[in-house]
Amino acid sequence: MQRIVVKVGSHVISDENLLNLKRFENLVAFLTKLMQKYEVILVTSAAISAGCTKLHIDRKNLINKQVLAAIGQPFLISVYNEFLAKFGKMGGQILLTGKDFDSRKATKHAKNAIDAMIDLGILPIINENDATAIEEIVFGDNDSLSAYATHFFEADLLVILSDIDGFYDKNPSEFSDAKRLERVEFIKEEWLNVSVKTGSEHGTGGIVTKLKAAKFLLENHKKMFLASGFDLSVAKAFLLENKQIGGTLFE
Ligand code: ADP
Repeated sequence: MQRIVVKVGSHVISDENLLNLKRFENLVAFLTKLMQKYEVILVTSAAISAGCTKLHIDRKNLINKQVLAAIGQPFLISVYNEFLAKFGKMGGQILLTGKDFDSRKATKHAKNAIDAMIDLGILPIINENDATAIEEIVFGDNDSLSAYATHFFEADLLVILSDIDGFYDKNPSEFSDAKRLERVEFIKEEWLNVSVKTGSEHGTGGIVTKLKAAKFLLENHKKMFLASGFDLSVAKAFLLENKQIGGTLFE
């Protein structure tokens, strides 16, 4: 079975300071379908948004973000498990930081746990450990973490489900004539040098972190597919029917 990593951006499952349970359930239904065809590893954001549903403090300040992530992470996993249970499945949490991938030992331990979970039919759910991965909270979202997970946990493909339905030749939220690129083989340096703008207030990565993830994967002979996490039809067609009807394939 092919192994894939699916990365879910915060807005896909949350709106402002609330989890969007309808989109959440659709996503989990999709993941359980994928689990029939692939070995699936999930990387999920939205711990801070989940924390905001429980505690009303300013999410812009760093220490508050850590507190919100600490409250939100177990809640987020519990919601995943509530939905997964409807499909007879279970998820398990793996918290990592970028630094874990600097250590061969740590990477191997994490991979062993993930391999065993997959063998048991359990969905490994990865997030960054926000209490220690301070830079990740500020800059990275989970785009680089999911690229490392794809490479080091030996998956073939990273699927990023985002608030944007692909990579465009210019920022689609600023230019109405921006065109989506269907396939990208090479990441141009100039694409990485634009200022980081995200789709909304609580998106942190923007397109640049996704392009950096794609660059890393292309250099390591892996693929990445960027598609909408709001309307899952493009990701479904790509992964379940081998048809590309949208999104951007980096290969
Ligand atoms: P996520 O939260 O899913 O990780 P982000 O909101 O951080 O996603 O990043 C995606 C956003 O990047 C898009 O909504 C869009 O506003 C912005 N963006 C800037 N330039 C581009 C581009 N060339 N192609 C696609 N999106 C772009």
